[in-house]
Amino acid sequence: MGLSTYRKKRSFDVTPEPQGGKGDLAELRFVVQKHDASRLHYDFRLEIGGVLKSWAIPKGPSLNPEDKRLAMMVEDHPFDYRNFEGVIPEGNYGAGTVIVWDEGAFEPLEPTGSKTSDEKLLLKALKAGSLKFSLHGHKLKGEFALVKLKKAENNAWLLIKHRDEYVNETDVTRKDKSVISKKTIEQMAKNPAKVYGKAAIKATTGITKKAAKKFTKKSSSSKSALKKLASKAPSRKKSANRTPGY
Ligand code: MN
Repeated sequence: MGLSTYRKKRSFDVTPEPQGGKGDLAELRFVVQKHDASRLHYDFRLEIGGVLKSWAIPKGPSLNPEDKRLAMMVEDHPFDYRNFEGVIPEGNYGAGTVIVWDEGAFEPLEPTGSKTSDEKLLLKALKAGSLKFSLHGHKLKGEFALVKLKKAENNAWLLIKHRDEYVNETDVTRKDKSVISKKTIEQMAKNPAKVYGKAAIKATTGITKKAAKKFTKKSSSSKSALKKLASKAPSRKKSANRTPGY
């Protein structure tokens, strides 16, 4: 698939989202991002062939094998996306707040012992519409399968937990904090200044560094001034003009 679709959908002068990156670590990585876009969903991404193969899961993953979670395959994302959290400004594809809900290493169910061979195996399985893998995340652990639905839409898959010692019937999405910033989606939306959201605020409100400095000078407490600036960012509430997208 490559990244051309990903790049076409986005304007990088107004979104803080990453553009590239290479999977150069010793292990294959996965990430699950919680994304409060036009509809709240979870983006499940597996590093395969130097990019992140991606599925949008409306209900989020589950550790209960009885829950077969619909996963809509979407465009490949760049490797650097695995660390992305912050705010995608209004008017952009997938506008809304993102946190890294879970991340870690993963491997095919029967690892070959080499990352390159593992990726070849996974690409083959991807084409065949049946991926089996083990996740080593903070929240998601153990064996899972992603299975393509044959009779449904082209891009519809199911994410299913295999039976193993990590099965748990408690809804794992109740653990709602980022594994990077420890923020919930709501906390990230309110205070994205310390992460990628800073560029986003500037882009959407026109508040420049100079203006921010001036504003800060007038105030006795620069901290509260910054807070005020952050609060000038557009509200994250659902709005009619929000661009739909995963
Ligand atoms: Mn998304």
